[in-house]
Amino acid sequence: MFPQGKMKAITFSFDDGVEQDRKLVEILNRFGFKAAFNLNSGVQSGSAPWCQNDLVVRRLNIAELPGLYAGHEIAVHSLTHPHLEYLDEPTIRNELEQDKLNLERIFNTKVRGMAYPYGTYNALVTKTARRCGLEYARGVSATGLFDIPQTTEERLAYQPTCNHDDPQLMTLADAFLKLTPQTPQLFYIWGHSYMLEANNNWHVLEEFCKLTAGRNDIFYGTNAEVLL
Ligand SMILES: [Zn+2]
Repeated sequence: MFPQGKMKAITFSFDDGVEQDRKLVEILNRFGFKAAFNLNSGVQSGSAPWCQNDLVVRRLNIAELPGLYAGHEIAVHSLTHPHLEYLDEPTIRNELEQDKLNLERIFNTKVRGMAYPYGTYNALVTKTARRCGLEYARGVSATGLFDIPQTTEERLAYQPTCNHDDPQLMTLADAFLKLTPQTPQLFYIWGHSYMLEANNNWHVLEEFCKLTAGRNDIFYGTNAEVLL
């Protein structure tokens, strides 16, 4: 069960620590939602922008982050955002452990989870994540489900309910609101704030938030609060 005996929870997870997180955090805070922000501390700088559709995407500089993400969870996304499954064990360890240590220092908090860069991993990656003290790790494959992982193995191979761009988002929201479950159910949305800007669909996220916020039977927590 979630806090206050609630059987339903909603949480968000956003990657890469980019400029559009400013607008995203304003929306989440306005509606009372909590998210995990998954950051690459080795490349967390505005120095290397990239293009998404016609949008120039820039990571935020580190000094801004503690203030911006106050009240939300900070999680590992690796030091430099590689495909972890192609690396040897010491390099995977370097990517996860050093990102965790950097984030714990920058945010003065314990970091407990991660999102896999590109959503990809193998058995060595999950084993190394566990050895680095990470307790959950998220992929990018939408399940359309509200199941909660039960074991450490499941938590380190967790797949989200859907992306904020998923055409099923509002259908899933309607179904979730109607549930009166006997076991805890979790609506977990992941994504990238820059995709909301690039696809010009911030209004979809706002509609989702407006519909699902402020319900007595739903707990609004960070990833760690609802998964661990
Ligand atoms: Zn990423």
